[in-house]
Amino acid sequence: MIDPLRIEPGSAPKLVGRDTSAVPEWSIDKSDAERELAERVVQIDLLQNRLFAENARSMLLVLQGTDTAGKDGAIKNTFKQVNPAFLHVTAFKAPSSTELEHDYLWRVHAALPERGRIGIFNRSHYEDVLVPRGRGLLSAGRVAQRYGHINDFERMLTDEGTSVVKVLLHISKEEQRQRLQARVDDPEKRWKMRLADLDDRKLWDDFQSAYEEMIEATSTEHAPWYVVPADRKWLRNVVVAEIVVRALEAMAPTIPPGDDGIAGLVVE
Ligand code: AMP
Ligand code: MG
Repeated sequence: MIDPLRIEPGSAPKLVGRDTSAVPEWSIDKSDAERELAERVVQIDLLQNRLFAENARSMLLVLQGTDTAGKDGAIKNTFKQVNPAFLHVTAFKAPSSTELEHDYLWRVHAALPERGRIGIFNRSHYEDVLVPRGRGLLSAGRVAQRYGHINDFERMLTDEGTSVVKVLLHISKEEQRQRLQARVDDPEKRWKMRLADLDDRKLWDDFQSAYEEMIEATSTEHAPWYVVPADRKWLRNVVVAEIVVRALEAMAPTIPPGDDGIAGLVVE
Protein backbone atom coordinates (compact mmCIF):
# COMPACT_ATOMS: atom_id res chain seq x y z
CA MET A 1 0.00 0.00 0.00
CA ILE A 2 2.82 2.44 0.79
CA ASP A 3 5.08 1.57 -2.16
CA PRO A 4 3.45 4.09 -4.55
CA LEU A 5 4.04 6.80 -1.93
CA ARG A 6 7.77 6.21 -1.75
CA ILE A 7 9.74 8.56 -3.97
CA GLU A 8 12.58 6.87 -5.83
CA PRO A 9 15.98 8.56 -5.59
CA GLY A 10 16.33 11.39 -8.07
CA SER A 11 12.68 11.42 -9.09
CA ALA A 12 10.25 14.26 -8.49
CA PRO A 13 7.10 13.73 -6.41
CA LYS A 14 4.99 15.96 -8.70
CA LEU A 15 3.17 17.53 -5.79
CA VAL A 16 1.07 19.76 -7.99
CA GLY A 17 -1.80 17.59 -9.13
CA ARG A 18 -0.87 14.77 -6.77
CA ASP A 19 -3.85 13.30 -4.92
CA THR A 20 -4.05 14.59 -1.33
CA SER A 21 -6.94 12.38 -0.25
CA ALA A 22 -6.26 8.86 -1.54
CA VAL A 23 -3.48 6.32 -1.94
CA PRO A 24 -3.17 5.12 -5.55
CA GLU A 25 -4.75 1.68 -6.08
CA TRP A 26 -5.77 1.27 -2.45
CA SER A 27 -9.27 2.00 -1.33
CA ILE A 28 -10.32 1.75 2.27
CA ASP A 29 -13.15 3.26 4.27
CA LYS A 30 -12.90 4.99 7.60
CA SER A 31 -13.93 2.09 9.84
CA ASP A 32 -11.55 -0.36 8.13
CA ALA A 33 -8.77 2.20 8.34
CA GLU A 34 -9.35 2.61 12.06
CA ARG A 35 -9.29 -1.15 12.57
CA GLU A 36 -6.08 -1.46 10.56
CA LEU A 37 -4.54 1.41 12.50
CA ALA A 38 -5.30 -0.37 15.78
CA GLU A 39 -3.45 -3.47 14.53
CA ARG A 40 -0.44 -1.48 13.45
CA VAL A 41 -0.28 0.46 16.67
CA VAL A 42 0.10 -2.85 18.52
CA GLN A 43 2.78 -4.02 16.06
CA ILE A 44 4.70 -0.80 16.58
CA ASP A 45 4.66 -1.32 20.33
CA LEU A 46 5.95 -4.89 19.96
CA LEU A 47 8.72 -3.94 17.55
CA GLN A 48 9.70 -0.91 19.61
CA ASN A 49 10.04 -3.12 22.68
CA ARG A 50 12.45 -5.33 20.77
CA LEU A 51 14.39 -2.34 19.52
CA PHE A 52 14.73 -1.10 23.08
CA ALA A 53 15.73 -4.52 24.40
CA GLU A 54 18.33 -4.86 21.65
CA ASN A 55 19.76 -1.48 22.67
CA ALA A 56 22.01 -1.18 19.62
CA ARG A 57 20.18 0.82 16.97
CA SER A 58 17.56 3.54 16.70
CA MET A 59 15.04 4.86 14.25
CA LEU A 60 14.34 8.43 13.21
CA LEU A 61 10.99 9.49 11.76
CA VAL A 62 11.09 12.93 10.14
CA LEU A 63 7.72 14.60 9.66
CA GLN A 64 7.38 17.59 7.41
CA GLY A 65 4.35 19.44 6.11
CA THR A 66 2.77 22.86 6.04
CA ASP A 67 0.93 24.29 9.04
CA THR A 68 -2.13 22.13 9.83
CA ALA A 69 -0.82 19.22 7.74
CA GLY A 70 -1.29 16.95 10.77
CA LYS A 71 2.20 16.31 12.09
CA ASP A 72 1.06 16.33 15.73
CA GLY A 73 -1.98 14.20 14.99
CA ALA A 74 0.09 11.62 13.12
CA ILE A 75 2.52 11.35 16.05
CA LYS A 76 -0.26 11.05 18.62
CA ASN A 77 -2.08 8.31 16.71
CA THR A 78 0.85 6.25 15.50
CA PHE A 79 2.64 5.99 18.82
CA LYS A 80 -0.32 5.92 21.20
CA GLN A 81 0.53 2.42 22.42
CA VAL A 82 4.27 2.91 22.78
CA ASN A 83 5.86 3.57 26.14
CA PRO A 84 6.65 7.32 25.99
CA ALA A 85 9.97 6.59 27.71
CA PHE A 86 11.08 4.79 24.55
CA LEU A 87 10.36 7.78 22.33
CA HIS A 88 12.28 10.98 21.79
CA VAL A 89 10.05 13.64 20.25
CA THR A 90 11.37 17.02 19.16
CA ALA A 91 9.38 19.89 17.66
CA PHE A 92 11.71 22.27 15.85
CA LYS A 93 10.82 25.95 15.99
CA ALA A 94 12.57 28.93 14.47
CA PRO A 95 16.17 28.73 15.78
CA SER A 96 16.95 30.55 19.03
CA SER A 97 19.79 33.06 19.24
CA THR A 98 22.03 30.36 20.78
CA GLU A 99 21.17 27.91 18.02
CA LEU A 100 21.96 30.57 15.44
CA GLU A 101 25.47 30.78 16.88
CA HIS A 102 26.10 27.28 15.51
CA ASP A 103 25.75 25.47 12.20
CA TYR A 104 22.23 24.37 11.36
CA LEU A 105 22.79 20.68 12.13
CA TRP A 106 24.04 21.36 15.66
CA ARG A 107 20.64 21.33 17.35
CA VAL A 108 19.50 18.49 15.13
CA HIS A 109 22.36 16.21 16.05
CA ALA A 110 21.73 16.87 19.74
CA ALA A 111 18.08 15.86 19.37
CA LEU A 112 18.72 12.44 17.80
CA PRO A 113 17.40 9.35 19.60
CA GLU A 114 19.62 7.29 21.89
CA ARG A 115 20.13 3.64 21.00
CA GLY A 116 16.95 1.61 21.40
CA ARG A 117 14.64 4.57 20.90
CA ILE A 118 12.51 5.99 18.16
CA GLY A 119 13.19 9.66 17.52
CA ILE A 120 10.42 11.74 16.02
CA PHE A 121 11.11 15.09 14.42
CA ASN A 122 8.10 17.39 14.12
CA ARG A 123 9.80 19.58 11.52
CA SER A 124 13.52 19.08 11.19
CA HIS A 125 16.80 20.13 9.56
CA TYR A 126 14.77 20.44 6.35
CA GLU A 127 13.25 23.67 7.68
CA ASP A 128 16.69 25.22 7.33
CA VAL A 129 16.28 25.00 3.59
CA LEU A 130 12.49 25.13 3.24
CA VAL A 131 11.91 28.35 5.15
CA PRO A 132 14.53 30.53 3.45
CA ARG A 133 13.84 28.84 0.12
CA GLY A 134 10.06 29.29 0.35
CA ARG A 135 10.61 32.96 1.17
CA GLY A 136 13.05 33.42 -1.69
CA LEU A 137 16.08 34.02 0.54
CA LEU A 138 18.35 31.13 -0.46
CA SER A 139 19.97 30.74 -3.88
CA ALA A 140 19.76 27.51 -5.86
CA GLY A 141 23.47 26.98 -5.27
CA ARG A 142 23.13 27.23 -1.48
CA VAL A 143 20.09 24.94 -1.56
CA ALA A 144 22.04 22.27 -3.46
CA GLN A 145 24.93 22.66 -1.06
CA ARG A 146 22.73 22.18 2.02
CA TYR A 147 20.95 19.17 0.54
CA GLY A 148 24.41 17.73 -0.06
CA HIS A 149 25.22 18.19 3.65
CA ILE A 150 21.90 16.67 4.65
CA ASN A 151 22.35 13.59 2.45
CA ASP A 152 25.82 13.07 3.90
CA PHE A 153 24.51 13.57 7.44
CA GLU A 154 21.71 11.04 6.96
CA ARG A 155 24.16 8.61 5.34
CA MET A 156 26.36 8.86 8.39
CA LEU A 157 23.38 8.24 10.68
CA THR A 158 22.29 5.13 8.83
CA ASP A 159 25.85 3.80 8.70
CA GLU A 160 26.04 4.26 12.46
CA GLY A 161 22.78 2.47 13.25
CA THR A 162 19.97 5.02 12.98
CA SER A 163 17.37 4.12 10.34
CA VAL A 164 15.95 7.28 8.81
CA VAL A 165 12.43 7.49 7.36
CA LYS A 166 10.94 10.74 6.10
CA VAL A 167 7.30 11.65 5.60
CA LEU A 168 5.80 14.66 3.91
CA LEU A 169 2.17 15.09 4.95
CA HIS A 170 0.59 16.45 1.81
CA ILE A 171 -2.63 18.46 2.13
CA SER A 172 -4.44 20.63 -0.38
CA LYS A 173 -4.59 24.39 -0.11
CA GLU A 174 -8.35 24.20 0.45
CA GLU A 175 -7.92 21.68 3.27
CA GLN A 176 -5.41 24.02 4.91
CA ARG A 177 -7.89 26.89 4.61
CA GLN A 178 -10.53 24.87 6.43
CA ARG A 179 -8.16 23.76 9.17
CA LEU A 180 -6.85 27.28 9.74
CA GLN A 181 -10.42 28.54 9.88
CA ALA A 182 -11.20 25.86 12.46
CA ARG A 183 -8.28 27.13 14.53
CA VAL A 184 -9.66 30.65 14.37
CA ASP A 185 -13.16 29.55 15.28
CA ASP A 186 -12.37 27.12 18.10
CA PRO A 187 -10.95 28.74 21.25
CA GLU A 188 -9.39 25.37 22.20
CA LYS A 189 -7.36 25.39 18.99
CA ARG A 190 -6.67 29.10 18.59
CA TRP A 191 -3.32 28.97 20.40
CA LYS A 192 -1.93 26.81 17.59
CA MET A 193 -2.25 29.61 15.09
CA ARG A 194 -0.11 32.68 14.62
CA LEU A 195 -0.88 35.51 12.23
CA ALA A 196 2.47 34.82 10.56
CA ASP A 197 1.08 31.45 9.43
CA LEU A 198 -1.02 33.42 6.97
CA ASP A 199 2.12 34.96 5.47
CA ASP A 200 3.44 31.48 4.68
CA ARG A 201 0.04 30.53 3.29
CA LYS A 202 0.31 33.43 0.84
CA LEU A 203 3.51 31.79 -0.38
CA TRP A 204 1.77 28.42 -0.85
CA ASP A 205 3.09 27.84 -4.39
CA ASP A 206 6.64 28.80 -3.42
CA PHE A 207 6.57 26.38 -0.51
CA GLN A 208 5.16 23.60 -2.69
CA SER A 209 8.08 24.12 -5.10
CA ALA A 210 10.46 24.07 -2.16
CA TYR A 211 9.01 20.72 -0.99
CA GLU A 212 9.24 19.39 -4.52
CA GLU A 213 12.90 20.36 -4.76
CA MET A 214 13.62 18.95 -1.28
CA ILE A 215 12.22 15.53 -2.07
CA GLU A 216 13.87 15.26 -5.45
CA ALA A 217 17.24 16.14 -3.89
CA THR A 218 17.05 14.05 -0.72
CA SER A 219 14.98 10.92 -1.25
CA THR A 220 17.72 8.30 -1.10
CA GLU A 221 17.95 4.52 -0.79
CA HIS A 222 19.04 4.85 2.82
CA ALA A 223 16.66 7.67 3.84
CA PRO A 224 13.59 7.65 1.57
CA TRP A 225 10.77 10.16 1.46
CA TYR A 226 7.14 9.11 1.47
CA VAL A 227 4.50 11.60 0.33
CA VAL A 228 1.40 10.81 2.36
CA PRO A 229 -2.02 12.05 1.23
CA ALA A 230 -3.18 13.83 4.37
CA ASP A 231 -6.51 15.54 3.69
CA ARG A 232 -8.28 12.69 5.49
CA LYS A 233 -6.93 12.19 8.98
CA TRP A 234 -7.98 8.55 9.34
CA LEU A 235 -6.23 7.66 6.07
CA ARG A 236 -3.13 9.64 7.03
CA ASN A 237 -2.93 7.82 10.37
CA VAL A 238 -3.02 4.31 8.98
CA VAL A 239 -0.55 5.17 6.23
CA VAL A 240 2.00 6.71 8.61
CA ALA A 241 1.61 3.76 10.97
CA GLU A 242 2.24 1.36 8.08
CA ILE A 243 5.39 3.28 7.10
CA VAL A 244 6.67 2.98 10.68
CA VAL A 245 5.81 -0.73 10.89
CA ARG A 246 7.61 -1.45 7.64
CA ALA A 247 10.67 0.52 8.71
CA LEU A 248 10.85 -1.33 12.03
CA GLU A 249 10.29 -4.69 10.35
CA ALA A 250 13.13 -3.94 7.96
CA MET A 251 15.37 -3.34 10.97
CA ALA A 252 14.25 -6.69 12.45
CA PRO A 253 15.28 -5.90 16.02
CA THR A 254 16.16 -8.99 18.02
CA ILE A 255 15.59 -9.67 21.70
CA PRO A 256 18.85 -10.48 23.51
CA PRO A 257 18.86 -14.09 24.79
CA GLY A 258 19.37 -13.09 28.44
CA ASP A 259 21.90 -14.51 30.90
CA ASP A 260 23.08 -18.09 30.43
CA GLY A 261 20.91 -20.44 32.40
CA ILE A 262 17.83 -18.21 32.58
CA ALA A 263 15.89 -19.94 29.80
CA GLY A 264 13.94 -22.81 31.27
CA LEU A 265 14.67 -21.81 34.87
CA VAL A 266 11.91 -22.54 37.36
CA VAL A 267 11.56 -19.71 39.85
CA GLU A 268 10.81 -21.02 43.36
P1 AMP B 1 4.82 25.08 14.52
O1 AMP B 1 5.45 23.80 14.04
O2 AMP B 1 3.51 25.35 13.86
O3 AMP B 1 4.78 25.18 15.99
O4 AMP B 1 5.73 26.27 14.01
C1 AMP B 1 7.09 26.30 14.11
C2 AMP B 1 7.60 27.40 13.23
O5 AMP B 1 9.01 27.40 13.31
C3 AMP B 1 7.22 27.22 11.77
O6 AMP B 1 6.76 28.43 11.24
C4 AMP B 1 8.52 26.80 11.14
O7 AMP B 1 8.62 27.14 9.80
C5 AMP B 1 9.53 27.51 12.01
N1 AMP B 1 10.85 26.89 11.93
C6 AMP B 1 11.20 25.65 12.33
N2 AMP B 1 12.49 25.40 12.05
C7 AMP B 1 12.97 26.52 11.44
C8 AMP B 1 14.22 26.88 10.89
N3 AMP B 1 15.25 26.05 10.93
N4 AMP B 1 14.35 28.10 10.33
C9 AMP B 1 13.30 28.94 10.30
N5 AMP B 1 12.08 28.66 10.80
C10 AMP B 1 11.92 27.47 11.35
MG1 MG C 1 1.99 26.39 13.41
